[in-house]
Amino acid sequence: IKISHFQEAIMAAILYIIVPCYNEEAVLPITATMFLTKINELAAVGKISPESRVMFVNDGSRDRTWEIISELAKGDEHYIGISQSRNRGHQNAVLAGLMEAREHCDITISIDCDGQDDINAMDAMVDAYLDGCEVVYGVRSSRETDTFFKRFTAQSFYKFLSAMGAEVVYNHADYRLISARVLKEFANFREVNLFLRGLVPLVGFKSTTVSYSRAERIAGESHYPLKKMIALAVDGITSLSVKPLRMITGFGAAVALISFIGVLWALITAIAGKAVAGWASMTCIICFVSGVQLICLGIIGEYIGKIYLETKQRPRYIISERTWVHKPAEPGREE
Ligand code: UDP
Ligand code: MG
Repeated sequence: IKISHFQEAIMAAILYIIVPCYNEEAVLPITATMFLTKINELAAVGKISPESRVMFVNDGSRDRTWEIISELAKGDEHYIGISQSRNRGHQNAVLAGLMEAREHCDITISIDCDGQDDINAMDAMVDAYLDGCEVVYGVRSSRETDTFFKRFTAQSFYKFLSAMGAEVVYNHADYRLISARVLKEFANFREVNLFLRGLVPLVGFKSTTVSYSRAERIAGESHYPLKKMIALAVDGITSLSVKPLRMITGFGAAVALISFIGVLWALITAIAGKAVAGWASMTCIICFVSGVQLICLGIIGEYIGKIYLETKQRPRYIISERTWVHKPAEPGREE
């Protein structure tokens, strides 16, 4: 059947680009135009509908970010802004955007607003969607522009995560296409400990990757210093995997075995009448074992902390302001 242009326009998928923004006044005016140009380009070749939008999620910025977003939304209907009631972090901001957008569109692409992720990869992402993939992960092909330190810590991050049993797509951050169909299922994942890049693969559906080279930040500063990266890694592991708990058990078993040999040795020495004062060996064992116990307690504590937060079931995001009228099909669902 030959499809007419009219039908094609109706059928084209509506894309919402979800952009979390925290203190991004320096870079937002530059990248906002880039996102809009990309939407116009894709719409012009009929890959997406002209009804597509760029949705900014202000994550409680302390600078002029929200004013800039509001002005953009006034100037062009393709821009939409929503604002979280306070700073809740990158993951919650992305989730807020995805959940707000999902009933208005067919596909979403989440991307950082600093211009580090190559927006031209969106073409390939949309192509993959049109080929039947419901999730498309943007994967960094190189890290040449990162400093050695950032590259090293980021690589250790992925290696550590997978060693600890948290399945993540290698070198994939939060630049990805998710279809509204997948988001509908994802909305049922109710956890408050959000680690999106680990959760999205759990939803399943057909997926693929698109690689792109990551550039330097166009302006402004990174919000992910080493401390936050470690926190994210710990969060990721403890919310996706119980492997550390099993490792504690294994470690305990190993220590028990060694102690058993130690006991045998002590008994034999005592029976042979060669027992000495043994102060040094005692001290070493006590120090070692108590250290190990504290670490194990800490790890168990991490999980208890997670349970504590989950049982409260606090809202994962609170939207305080909007530049548009949001009409959820299923009212009163998330917020
Ligand atoms: N971001 C956010 N809330 C935060 C921290 C960051 O919404 O509390 C946004 C930020 O505006 C950016 C994205 O998350 O769009 C990634 O942050 P950043 O570029 O600082 O991290 P990096 O790329 O250095 O890992
Ligand atoms: Mg960045």
